[in-house]
Amino acid sequence: MTLVDIRPHLREWAMPHVLCAGCAHGIVGRAFLVAVDRAGIDPDQMVVVAGIGCSSRLVGYLDFCTLHATHGRAPTFATGIKLARPELTVAVFSGDGDGLAIGGNHLIHAARRNIDLTVVLFNNEIYGMTGGQVAPTTQRGAVASTTPRGNTEPAFDSVKLMVGAGASFVARASASEPFTLERIFAEALAHRGFAFVEVLSNCPTYFGRYNRLGDGPEMLVWLTRQDSRVADPLAAKRVVSHLPVPEPPPGLELGILHREERPVFDGRTPG
Ligand code: SF4
Ligand code: MG
Repeated sequence: MTLVDIRPHLREWAMPHVLCAGCAHGIVGRAFLVAVDRAGIDPDQMVVVAGIGCSSRLVGYLDFCTLHATHGRAPTFATGIKLARPELTVAVFSGDGDGLAIGGNHLIHAARRNIDLTVVLFNNEIYGMTGGQVAPTTQRGAVASTTPRGNTEPAFDSVKLMVGAGASFVARASASEPFTLERIFAEALAHRGFAFVEVLSNCPTYFGRYNRLGDGPEMLVWLTRQDSRVADPLAAKRVVSHLPVPEPPPGLELGILHREERPVFDGRTPG
């Protein structure tokens, strides 16, 4: 398979970008652009809507029709666009805090309707842009700026949530496996109905630093679960906590986990 040059899909005039060094969100964004390019979607017919957060800032660099909406409301804006212009391909970029906390209601109702959207949920287990606060996906025991002694709450399993809410395509992928990510994005974009892809990403600036998981590449290794702890000398440089290092999310299944065909919501057809 030939490599895709994503530069024609980037607003290079908007560079440099705001992401921290080592943040995996760029890997996720690249995989999405590759999937759009390979699908042959006309950039003028491609819409990406985002809420608020580091992942949402990515849309500012995509040379499609883009909308930076309000916190948690990206699925709602995307619903309006899709109903008004059904010929467009409409996607949503959202973070775990954006999509599952303040935007939780908007996300589940978009899934329930089975409207033809592709939602990418970047899960870095923390609120990145606003300073490393605990998020609905932060694993129990993990340190955040608002849980300095470790998170006491269980985390959301967004995949189960989306299946329960009615999404007709549900997948989970990891930024540590970019080629798999490209293929899953391709399937999600081709699916007719509500497609949800959770992507395990990293935040070395907050989650990695607070939990002594190292920098970006080391966190990608952590995501693969082959080696869940960075070497002690490296971790020692970043210590802000004396708590045990959390393991990667246990038992999280990866891949396309649910797919069904059911009527797609168009706002007009009853039944
Ligand atoms: Fe990425 Fe975290 Fe930096 Fe945000 S704060 S750009 S999620 S590393
Ligand atoms: Mg987040």
